[in-house]
Amino acid sequence: MRFSGLRVLREGLTGNRGWTAHWRDPEPRPAYDIVIIGGGGHGLATAYYLAREHGLSNIAVLEKGYLGGGNVGRNTTIVRANYGLPGNSEFYSHSLKLWEGLEQELNFNVMHSQRGVLNLFHSDGQRDASVRRGNAMVNQGDDAILLDREGVRRMVPYLDFDNARFPVYGGLYHPRGGTARHDAVAWGYARGADQRGVDLIQNCEVTGIDVENGAVTGVQTTRGAIRAKKVGIVVAGRSSQVAALAGMRLPIESHVLQAFVTEGLKPLIDTVVTFGMGHFYISQSDKGGLVFGGDIDMYASYAARGNLPAVEHVMEAGMTLMPMIGKARVLRSWGGIMDMTPDGSPIIDKAGIDGLFLNCGWCYGGFKAVPGSGHCFAHLIATGQPHAAAAQFRLDRFRTGVGIMDEEGTGAQHNLH
Ligand SMILES: Cc1cc2nc3c(=O)[nH]c(=O)nc-3n(C[C@H](O)[C@H](O)[C@H](O)COP(=O)(O)OP(=O)(O)OC[C@H]3O[C@@H](n4cnc5c(N)ncnc54)[C@H](O)[C@@H]3O)c2cc1C
Repeated sequence: MRFSGLRVLREGLTGNRGWTAHWRDPEPRPAYDIVIIGGGGHGLATAYYLAREHGLSNIAVLEKGYLGGGNVGRNTTIVRANYGLPGNSEFYSHSLKLWEGLEQELNFNVMHSQRGVLNLFHSDGQRDASVRRGNAMVNQGDDAILLDREGVRRMVPYLDFDNARFPVYGGLYHPRGGTARHDAVAWGYARGADQRGVDLIQNCEVTGIDVENGAVTGVQTTRGAIRAKKVGIVVAGRSSQVAALAGMRLPIESHVLQAFVTEGLKPLIDTVVTFGMGHFYISQSDKGGLVFGGDIDMYASYAARGNLPAVEHVMEAGMTLMPMIGKARVLRSWGGIMDMTPDGSPIIDKAGIDGLFLNCGWCYGGFKAVPGSGHCFAHLIATGQPHAAAAQFRLDRFRTGVGIMDEEGTGAQHNLH
C-alpha cells in the first residue's frame, strides 16, 4: 500500500475501505539470522536499514510491549545536529541528512518540520561557548547563525529579555533543526521493515540471551526460544537489564526524564527555544499544544513517571523565560527512562560476545539519532565493521578512558549529562 494524494482522494470517495494494516502480525519463527531486541525507534530503524541497505530479511524485531510504546513515543521530538565534539558532530550530521529525505524514502508522513532550534545564551562566557559550537557545526557542514539580542528579539519577541537573573544576551540559531511526529517515525520504519520481509513481533519479551562458547546462539522469550546467528540489543532505558541477561554490566545509569503538554493554542511559537541558564525548552506541536521539558529527575529509577521537584523546577524556568505561558493550562505530563552513560554520548559497538551487538546510552537525546543510529547499527551488524559516522561510539572508552566524548563538559557523572 503506497500513500499518495491520489490515493487519499480515491479512498475518500469510496468509503475508505481500501486501507490495509501497516504491518503483519506474524508468529515468531524458531530461528532467524538476526534478532533485534526492542521495537523502539532505534530497533525498527536498524531492521529497516538491514533490509534496505544490506539486502537481509530473515530478521525479527522482538518488542515486549507494542511498537513505539517506549521512549520513541514519549519524547519531545526535537531533531537537531548542533553537537560540538568530534564523534558526535559527524554522527548527528549524518542523522540529520537521513531525516531530510526520510518521508520520501519511507513514503510515510513523519511530519518532519525544520522550524529551527534556537539555543539562548545569557553571559559572555556562554556566548563564547556558542561561537565555538557554531563554528564546529559549520565546519561539519551544518548550519549555525549567531544572533545578538536584537536578532533574538525579532524572532521570539515574547521572551522576558531583561529577567533579573538571566537576561538574554543572544542565541545560536540552527535553521535545519526542528521537530517530527515521534510515533509516526516508529510507524514509518516499522512499515518499511515489514514491507521488506522483517517480522515485527509484539508482546514478546526477551527473558534470556543464550551464549555458548563465547558466541550468541539465540534468545529466550515469553513466546518461546528463538535461535539467531546475531542479536542486537536496542532497548534504551532497559539496556542494563537486558545486557545483564548475557552476563554484561554496562556503564549506564537509568534516570527519569519528564515532559509536559498544554491545551491546544493558536500558532504561537514557530521554532524550538531552549533556555541557556535554566532547564527548560519548548516548541509547539501541530495540534497546538505547547510541548516542553527540562532536566532529568536526579535519582536513578525504572519508573516511567517523575516527581514534583522536577515539575516545579521546569515550570519556574518556563515562567522566568517566557512569562506568557503562565496563562496556558498543562494537560498532561509523563516520563521516560533514560539510559545515561558517564560521558553523555552513546554506544554502538560489538558487545564482546561473538554475534552480540549493543546500541544504547542515548540519554535524553536519542530521538534525533533514530535514522543515524539505525543506519550505523545495521552497518555494524551486517559487515562487522563500525560505520565511519559512529566509529567513536565505542564501549571500551569507559574502561580505557580513551575517546571520552563529554559534550556537556560535566565530567564522569551520569546524571549531569
Ligand atoms: C520526556 C522525554 C523527552 C525526550 N525528548 C527528546 C528530544 O526532544 N529529542 C531527542 O532527540 N530525544 C529525546 N528523548 C530521548 C529519546 O526519546 C530516546 O533517546 C530514544 O527514543 C530511545 O531510543 P528508542 O526509540 O529505541 O527507545 P524506546 O522507544 O524506549 O525503545 C526500546 C524498546 O525496547 C523494548 N524492550 C525493553 N526491554 C525489552 C525486552 N526485554 N524484550 C523486548 N523488548 C524490550 C521497550 O518496550 C521499548 O519499546 C526524550 C525522551 C523522553 C523520555
